[in-house]
Amino acid sequence: MPDLTSNFGSMVFGDRAMRERLPEDAYASLHRTIADGRSLNITLANTIADAMKVWAIELGATHYTHWFQPMTGITAEKHESFITPDDKGGAMVSFSGSALIRGESDASSFPSGGLRATFEARGYTAWDPTSYAFIKDNTLCIPTAFCSYGGEALDKKTPLMRSMETLNKQALRILRLFGDDTVKRVHATVGAEQEYFLIDKTLFDRRSDLILTGRTLFGARPPKGQELDDHYYGAIKPRVKAFMSEVNEQLWKLGISSKTEHNEAAPSQYELAPVFTTVNIAADQNQLTMEILKKTALRLNFVCVLHEKPFEGVNGSGKHVNWSLMTDSGQNLLNPGDTPCENIQFLLFLSAIIRAVDDYQDLLRISVAGAGNDCRLGRSEAPPAIISMFLGDELTGILNALESGNVPLHAETGRLETRVHVLPKLPRDSTDRNRTSPFAFTGNKFEFRMPGSSVSIAEPNIMINTIVAESLSVFADRMEADLARGETLSGSVSAIVIATIREHRRILFNGNNYSADWVREAENRGLLNLPSAADAIPCLISEKNIGLFTRHRVFSEAELRSRYEILLDDYCKKLNIEALTIAHMIKKELLPAGVMYLREVSETAVNLKELGLLNGESVELITAAKLSRLCRETELKIDALRLQIELSHAQTSTLGTAQFVKDKIIPAMSELRRAADTLEAELPDRCIPYPTYEQLLFSE
Ligand code: ADP
Ligand code: MG
Repeated sequence: MPDLTSNFGSMVFGDRAMRERLPEDAYASLHRTIADGRSLNITLANTIADAMKVWAIELGATHYTHWFQPMTGITAEKHESFITPDDKGGAMVSFSGSALIRGESDASSFPSGGLRATFEARGYTAWDPTSYAFIKDNTLCIPTAFCSYGGEALDKKTPLMRSMETLNKQALRILRLFGDDTVKRVHATVGAEQEYFLIDKTLFDRRSDLILTGRTLFGARPPKGQELDDHYYGAIKPRVKAFMSEVNEQLWKLGISSKTEHNEAAPSQYELAPVFTTVNIAADQNQLTMEILKKTALRLNFVCVLHEKPFEGVNGSGKHVNWSLMTDSGQNLLNPGDTPCENIQFLLFLSAIIRAVDDYQDLLRISVAGAGNDCRLGRSEAPPAIISMFLGDELTGILNALESGNVPLHAETGRLETRVHVLPKLPRDSTDRNRTSPFAFTGNKFEFRMPGSSVSIAEPNIMINTIVAESLSVFADRMEADLARGETLSGSVSAIVIATIREHRRILFNGNNYSADWVREAENRGLLNLPSAADAIPCLISEKNIGLFTRHRVFSEAELRSRYEILLDDYCKKLNIEALTIAHMIKKELLPAGVMYLREVSETAVNLKELGLLNGESVELITAAKLSRLCRETELKIDALRLQIELSHAQTSTLGTAQFVKDKIIPAMSELRRAADTLEAELPDRCIPYPTYEQLLFSE
């Protein structure tokens, strides 16, 4: 039997490679540095760099790069050769500790949202030793954070790591109050399920909307969509199977344990789920996974489409972020546990999350906001743009009982006075799942279902880490004060849990999030509903949120304002490209096809008339009249959209442009789409110069 595990992690300079190749003291010292969250000294860095270089060259690497995650949402790399000329006209192999831990990069071509104006154009990259180096395309990739010379974060990794720090600090305060002196670190664990579409490349290449915007901007609905549910979990077709095998092989070599794969609900849609790991590593791995999906697809003449809503009328693609809290001793803090003490600790962490999600609905919404995800949220099996939490009936029942005083936490022992003294084991099987909830408790973790398929999971995790750290810090303050006054631990925790339920009950919702009733009820409850990124993003720089991020040192105010600018700018640019593309494609391809068919039909009508066979009810005459009207309508809608595009360019601020895009451009695009789809539906296939929905979705 071939050994499936033999190549696992073979391209990663991970723990195994380090243990094998580093001198014992260097290995131990690196471990200590990582565990304490300190930075590397140069002697140690030199030793590691040396071992890493030899390892990488043995595996065929010729170059190295600092691999980082600028605000574009994808990764960036600048390759340097291991070989440098020596002074004797030859060459030598070199890779120093300083080259490992720090690199320089011109920051001026990456989005900085105004930070560049205030700070230097140069940026630097710094190794994150908690994320292992790996080899990709004969290049040693060193995962790094990317900052300006003033230390301002220009990337997604830096704030993610800062949010891990604050979360660790506040969670440790709580654990200490519970009398735990052994845990040294708490980190968030994350498993990100990735959905994607595979489209035949020959077809993909014939649609400029797919090429330029990653999605179809129009197209008449095929007679069949996903109503039969015959794709979901269906048998995987051979070419797709070959794709998945190749993807897995590469992911495994990179130490990414891709675990499950299956057909998703929409035709041509699939999902891949890795085994969870520490959040910053999970974020790196997800970026790599997306890259490998795309590259591998091309080798098999597919295009892997990661857009959130490539096709109207069928499901879009998300990226469920499964999030939990884990101690360095391997304890999952969101596991309800078996003992009363574990139970009240669990209830406290749960309360912290409830409070966080309710108080910072806006930040969770912003963390998934973008032009692509706006098309997905609230439609075809995607959660709406309203944040709520699902806890399941059992847990909700326990919280309600606590709140109403029916099941008091026993003051001395900390016991929940139920008959069994501990929380019942919560079922983890899928029957207790609410798949419509944006933020669902799934037994020992939360599943955040709003993130879109194309984005970095750093954003949502920065938010979750920081808002939970905030709740924990407020709770820790309160517990410290309670205990100082002589209150018991369980008395203090009990009061906090009860107060949390009373104050934040509105965020708990176990019902159907897809229903129209929920939208009304959420409004009555005073929950935020921000369907458009243009409305959500401005909340990022509210006083409340600036206070939160500066208090926890995750973002400075300047960094936050820069991110606000980048997000809005990205939204406007993407929609501008979409608007230009839809107008162009319909004008150049669909309309001429319509006119050509109109000519064909009219000519037939003229011929029939000459033969004396035409009358008022002739199909040729009716069709010609209809086509003529539809073409005219489509033409008018193109003009209307183009006018709005012109006007949008006259806006003077990014926020003004974003609002204009939302209020004028998007409705004009929808109207054009409606006209175009009606026209397309009238045309015979042979006249349509680009692949239709039917061909795209059902050809494989
Ligand atoms: P389920 O079947 O309950 O959804 P899975 O094992 O399929 O559970 O989990 C889905 C995703 O959640 C996977 O990526 C998995 O690694 C991840 N996951 C499981 N446990 C945790 C955890 N404690 N923290 C973070 N993610 C987790
Ligand atoms: Mg899931």
